[in-house]
Amino acid sequence: MHTLVVNAGSSSVKFTCFGPGPDEVLAQGMVERIGLDGTTLHYQPRVGEALHQPVDTNHTGQALRALVERLTDTRHGSLDSPDQVAVVAHRVVHGGEKINQPVIIDEAVKAVIREHFALAPLHNPPNLAGIEAAQEVFPGAVQVGVFDTAFHRTLPAKAYLYALPRRLYEDYRIRRYGFHGISHQYVSRIAAEMLGRQPAEVNLVTCHLGNGCSITAVQGGRSVDTSMGFTPLEGLVMGTRTGDLDPAIVIHLMDHHGMSLDQVKDLLNKQSGLLGLSGGRSSDMRDIAAACQQGDATAQGALEVFCYRIKKYLGAYAAAMGSVDAVVFTGGIGENSPLVRQMALEGLAGLGIVLDHEPNQAPATGARAIHAASSLVSLLVVPTNEEKEMAGQARSLLP
Ligand code: ADP
Repeated sequence: MHTLVVNAGSSSVKFTCFGPGPDEVLAQGMVERIGLDGTTLHYQPRVGEALHQPVDTNHTGQALRALVERLTDTRHGSLDSPDQVAVVAHRVVHGGEKINQPVIIDEAVKAVIREHFALAPLHNPPNLAGIEAAQEVFPGAVQVGVFDTAFHRTLPAKAYLYALPRRLYEDYRIRRYGFHGISHQYVSRIAAEMLGRQPAEVNLVTCHLGNGCSITAVQGGRSVDTSMGFTPLEGLVMGTRTGDLDPAIVIHLMDHHGMSLDQVKDLLNKQSGLLGLSGGRSSDMRDIAAACQQGDATAQGALEVFCYRIKKYLGAYAAAMGSVDAVVFTGGIGENSPLVRQMALEGLAGLGIVLDHEPNQAPATGARAIHAASSLVSLLVVPTNEEKEMAGQARSLLP
C-alpha cells in the first residue's frame, strides 16, 4: 500500500510518496513557480538521480499531473502505475470550525474547503485544485484531507474569542483558529515519547519557528492556546510578518500617512518581521545571525525582538497551563539556531528552565534534549515531519 502526501500551495505543489513502511520514502518532488516565469519540476527518487526540468503549466492540477507522470515514468519513476497508490493525503490549510480531525474527502468536505476560501484565499483554492486533480489521476485511491487548523479545534472559547462585539463571531466567525497544527501535533507526540509519558499526561509548549512562526500550549495532548489567530499574521515575529501589533497602528497609517489597504497588507505580511526590523537586510535568520556576529546593531535588535516575543509567550502559556513539562523547538530556526534557543530561554531559571549550552551548541540533527540536569523543565529539539504525520493520519482512516 503506497501513500502519496500532497501539499498544493499558491505557487507550488509538493509531494512525497511513501511505500508500505511508515518511514519508507520512495520519491519526493515539487513543481515551483506555478503561474510565474521559470516554472520548474524537481523530482528526487529514492534511488537514482534527481531531475530538474522546466514545465509549461500555470495550474495546480496540471502541475500535479506532471509530477505523477514522473512518478510512474518507466525510466525515472518509482511506481509502475497510479493504481499502487491506496491513499492520497492532502494538506488543507483552513477547515474553520467544522473540521477537527483528518477526514475522507467527499462533496461535503469539498464544500467546507470552498466555504473557507475567503479566510484562506492563497491556500484553500489551490488545496482544492490539488484534491480535484488527484481524484482524476488516482480514481481508486482514498482521498484524505489533513487540516492545519484541525489540531487547534480544542481551544477553549476563552482562548479563541477576541474582545469584539459578539456578533462578529456569531455572524462572521471571527475568532482565533491557529495554524501549523500538523507540525505542533507531530512534535508534541514525539516529545511525549522522549519524556517516556503518554501525550495525555504532559503539558508542552511547542515552538514552530520557520519562515512562519507559531507557538502552542499543548495540555494533555490537546491544543489549548496558540499564537496564530484569525489568520497566520498574529503572534510571534516571523520572516516578513509582524506578529502581534496594536491594530490602531493600521488605522493611524491609513488615516495620517495616506497608506492604502493594499499597501498596509503588503507592509504587514511582506515587509515586516525580521526583514523590516533589520532595516531590509533579510528575512532569513541565517543572515540575521551572521550580521549580528559582525556587530550589526540593527540585526541584533531584530534578533532581540524575535526572541523576546517567544519568551513572553512561553511565560504566558506556562501560566495558562499551570505547569510545563517540556518546551519543544522545531522548524528551520527552532531546529538549527542555538542562538535563538539560548536567547529565548535565558533568564528563566526562576521558572525552572535551564539550558545546557553544550548540547544546545552541538551541530546535531535529530530529536534531542538540550536542558541542564538542574532544569525542572525538559528542553527538546524535535525536527518536524509534517509529511510523515499526514501519511500516518491518512492511513489511520483506512479500514
Ligand atoms: P518554512 O516555514 O518556509 O517551512 P523553514 O522551516 O525551512 O521554513 O525555516 C526557514 C528559516 O530557518 C529561515 O529563517 C532560515 O534562516 C532558518 N534556518 C535554516 N537553517 C538555519 C541555521 N542553520 N541557523 C539559523 N537559522 C536557520
